[in-house]
Amino acid sequence: MANEQILIVDNSTRNINFVIDSVLEPNSYQPLVAQDGKTGLNIALNQHPDLILLDMDVPEMTGMEMLDTLNTQNIKIPVIVMTSQGSETLAVQVFRMGVKDYILKPFEASEMLNSIERALTEVRLRKERDELTERLLESNQELEQRIKELHTLFGIGKSVTSLLDQEKLLSRLVEAAIYLTNAEEGSLLLVDKKTDELYMVAARGIDDRVARSFRLRVQDSLAGEVVTSGQPLILTGEDFTKIKTAYLVRSLMYVPLTVKERVSGVLSVNNRQQQRDFTNHDLRLLSALADYAAITLENARLFNQAESERTKLATVLGEIEEPVAVITGQNNRFIVANAALRRIFGLDEDEVEEQPLAELIYNRSLLELIAATPDTGATHKSEIPFDDGRTFYAALTPIPDVGRAIVMQDVTHFKKLDRIKSDFVSTVSHDLRAPLNSIKEYAKMINPAGELNEKQIIFVDRIINGVEQITALIDNLLDLSAIEADIDPDVTAIDIGQLTIEVTADFQNQAGRKHQQLICHTASGQPVMVVGNVLRLKQVVSNLIDNAIKYTPEEGQISAIVQTGDKQVVFKVEDNGPGIPPADLPFIFDKFFRVKDKGQAETRGTGLGLSICKSVIEKYDGHIWAESQPDQGSIFTFTLPLAPADDTKPVNVSSTESKVLPV
Ligand code: ADP
Repeated sequence: MANEQILIVDNSTRNINFVIDSVLEPNSYQPLVAQDGKTGLNIALNQHPDLILLDMDVPEMTGMEMLDTLNTQNIKIPVIVMTSQGSETLAVQVFRMGVKDYILKPFEASEMLNSIERALTEVRLRKERDELTERLLESNQELEQRIKELHTLFGIGKSVTSLLDQEKLLSRLVEAAIYLTNAEEGSLLLVDKKTDELYMVAARGIDDRVARSFRLRVQDSLAGEVVTSGQPLILTGEDFTKIKTAYLVRSLMYVPLTVKERVSGVLSVNNRQQQRDFTNHDLRLLSALADYAAITLENARLFNQAESERTKLATVLGEIEEPVAVITGQNNRFIVANAALRRIFGLDEDEVEEQPLAELIYNRSLLELIAATPDTGATHKSEIPFDDGRTFYAALTPIPDVGRAIVMQDVTHFKKLDRIKSDFVSTVSHDLRAPLNSIKEYAKMINPAGELNEKQIIFVDRIINGVEQITALIDNLLDLSAIEADIDPDVTAIDIGQLTIEVTADFQNQAGRKHQQLICHTASGQPVMVVGNVLRLKQVVSNLIDNAIKYTPEEGQISAIVQTGDKQVVFKVEDNGPGIPPADLPFIFDKFFRVKDKGQAETRGTGLGLSICKSVIEKYDGHIWAESQPDQGSIFTFTLPLAPADDTKPVNVSSTESKVLPV
């Protein structure tokens, strides 16, 4: 690298010319010349040449004096000494003073060039090292600044998730904004939607009273512009001169607080005194802080919302007289248990929270209901008897993403009433059956006993029909009380496929009279075994097929289908009759319920057939339900658990006389 400046301090013009012509110019070095020591020192001090070629014996100031001055002033310019009186003492002396080389006059051009190159190489390397060190220092400083910034951001990020005191957090954010952007003031403004204004929630460097009463209209303020556009804004000193506003600041920066694309406020920093403009880097830092502020505010909003909902819910649940609880997780931990529930199970408020239900409640029926009911799906209900004779009705309802709700109802009183009613009905029915039979028999004997006219024959028929209807009703009532009293004997394994084939065959005549097609589909030749009382199950299948025939018009289609599932049998009766109105469908299995449709009302019935079916199926751990589309038909389905593998010996279905059941 040439072009370096080399100062020659020598009073011999010949030597000066020789060095310039033979060494410096051919090698593109810039010569500077001084013919005395003082001038040489001046040039050295003012122009800082890269190298000095110094003759020790110069006028005004000796070479030694010059070296001395340079050393005292800590001027580090390399020096090559040229002298005609070489002496060891002088050599040692000058080397001690930091001289790079020592050349005896006269010298060869090449000798001088070599010495210059050596000295300058060293200088160049040192320069490079110094430059590198400087750059390294700069990078280090920058790195340190970045680390500080990251540290601050990280700290704020941690506070956002851990600090629930919103005011404190927001004021920390403003503090961090000032620190990171090296600003004088900072504030956090939020939008008041009602007044369409911005108000200050946190500030630093701003007088407290000013901060509290500070309000800006969204419509005509710079901060409002940021809210409307959703874009940040940086204004420098120059901008302020241009827009000639009343702003008493030299530079400012606004960034929007955005959550779900909605701007809820503005984070701002500014400088009043120092003339320092904000950079894009400052903008990135402030944006990161604004994101934190937005998250904080959103968290606080959600938290308050959840808290107020929770309080409302707790109040409502506390006031409810029915026992209510919500359980969650694999071990059914309590997340809610109202006072009524705690009362019936004798639990204290503090022992319930987060405790597994099974560790506090020992009621077998309730535990079984919970164990048998999956977390998803429909509501399951069951009667829960207590040791003290009370009975509750519990409904277990899955709540997605939460757990399951248990709502209980004290039905002890209703159970008692129901029992009294059943006993009454059963007694009365019993007592009515015998006289009704006599009426029917005597009515049948009237015609053979003597000549009757046409009208009399019709009247007798009506008496017999009426008596038959009452008898059917009484039979149904007695059946129901028998099922509810759980007194059916002979529970065995039954081939439900075979049973369906036989019942369908029995109903062919009845269907034929209405020109209906009655088809039976059973799974395979294999027996499909379920456990139950054969007469009751036959009664269920018969009731469903009988209804389908009764309520489907002439030439209709009816199918009885038996399918086997994983662990259960699925039985269906489908028809293409008038269907059931959606409003009536939920009540179809209630006692005495009949659809009040004109067409159906004409069909004879007691309204008890389906409640008998439901009682029987549920007694054998099955489920029964109806689906229907008006004018498109109905599907009645029941499921029953398949009998255990060793329970495969079927009873002879047809050999058992139906209807004769102990009541
Ligand atoms: P009922 O003795 O009246 O037939 P059920 O309990 O068997 O009593 O049935 C209750 C009501 O359900 C019936 O009155 C009828 O309105 C309706 N229903 C039952 N099965 C059918 C069906 N397959 N199609 C249309 N409606 C039906």
